[in-house]
Amino acid sequence: MADKPGKTETGRCCACGRTFTYDPGEVMTVLIDPQTGLPPGFSVLGTLRPAGPEAVARSADQPVCPACVDRAASLKAADDPPPFPTWP
Ligand SMILES: [Zn+2]
Repeated sequence: MADKPGKTETGRCCACGRTFTYDPGEVMTVLIDPQTGLPPGFSVLGTLRPAGPEAVARSADQPVCPACVDRAASLKAADDPPPFPTWP
């Protein structure tokens, strides 16, 4: 009865494997294909291919811990190409 409002669940981060607690209504999730451990459409070689309907059907949303969400956000920001120089 000392619980905070809202419910929490405990799960494993699908990116780093860390066990963490999260609010199922708030947590960031990614769709993971259990056969590859990657989102459907990603191959184990890191290349993209069209996701087949069966790959999507067997995939499930997996929670991602806040540390990995932050890391993904900073990687994405660092990945932005600098603007091309323009000639006068
Ligand atoms: Zn993580």
